[in-house]
Amino acid sequence: MTLERWFRRKKPTKGDDDSSPVGLWLKCESCNAQIYRKDLVANLYVCPECQHHYQMPVDARLELLLDEGSFEQWSGHIQATDPLEFVDQEAYADKLKAAQEKHHRKDAIVTGSGLLNGLPVALSVMDFFFLGGSMGSVVGEEIARAVERAADEDRAFIAVTASGGARMQEGALSLMQMAKTTVALERLAEKHLPFISLLTDPTTGGTTASFATLGDIIIAEPKALICFAGPRVIQQTIKQELPEGFQRSEFLLEKGMLDDVLERSKLKDKFAAYIRLLSGKVPQVTLEAEHVATL
Ligand SMILES: [Zn+2]
Repeated sequence: MTLERWFRRKKPTKGDDDSSPVGLWLKCESCNAQIYRKDLVANLYVCPECQHHYQMPVDARLELLLDEGSFEQWSGHIQATDPLEFVDQEAYADKLKAAQEKHHRKDAIVTGSGLLNGLPVALSVMDFFFLGGSMGSVVGEEIARAVERAADEDRAFIAVTASGGARMQEGALSLMQMAKTTVALERLAEKHLPFISLLTDPTTGGTTASFATLGDIIIAEPKALICFAGPRVIQQTIKQELPEGFQRSEFLLEKGMLDDVLERSKLKDKFAAYIRLLSGKVPQVTLEAEHVATL
């Protein structure tokens, strides 16, 4: 192996999607405990020892948030055309094709409808394992279409984000998705339909700077990295030591950027309570006083 190839070696994949190294056990990247892989999956991809939240595959996320058998997929009928014919270390078209074959979807997003504790919702879930969940023209278009359809069908909308930001290979087309998704959300607002944004690790760049932080309620999973520019870039720019936990969920909650940080196991019931509350329906799940205060 040449030195260059050694440096370019891929780091082991986090979580447990189909690209993870095969093995029955894994070492927790947070507490170093040896975890039985099946236990991690059964525990919603949360370390049973230290509660570290691993990235969650899209299918598991849909299973977590929606009532069994209620999901109807809307996305998957459009794909990027690579109008810039972009090439860096390899052609974008090749990279995209490889990702499509590996992950069995057209792009880094799945949208659709379903029931959440019996409530009609629509949702978009970003796939971080697909080109880093980058927001290209297809991701933006799918989210905008799903939001507009949710408004037409009187559904609350949930956006689950996990993204490295704009898809650089699509240049300005990628950046335009920030405006497109933002404008689409206006349709929900006009009909007073709730929009809940769930930020998972990592949510960065143009995703953070557009629809992800426009939720009526903005929730993050524990210790998720949420930022526009990452901590390394900021540290190099301002040449100062960054505070402990900078740009992590708990830090942002303290600074008022989030409404709450919730463990994965609590998300579904809390979302149902928020949707009932924002829709003017009587909450069937009692909201804790501290959460009502944040509303
Ligand atoms: Zn752990």
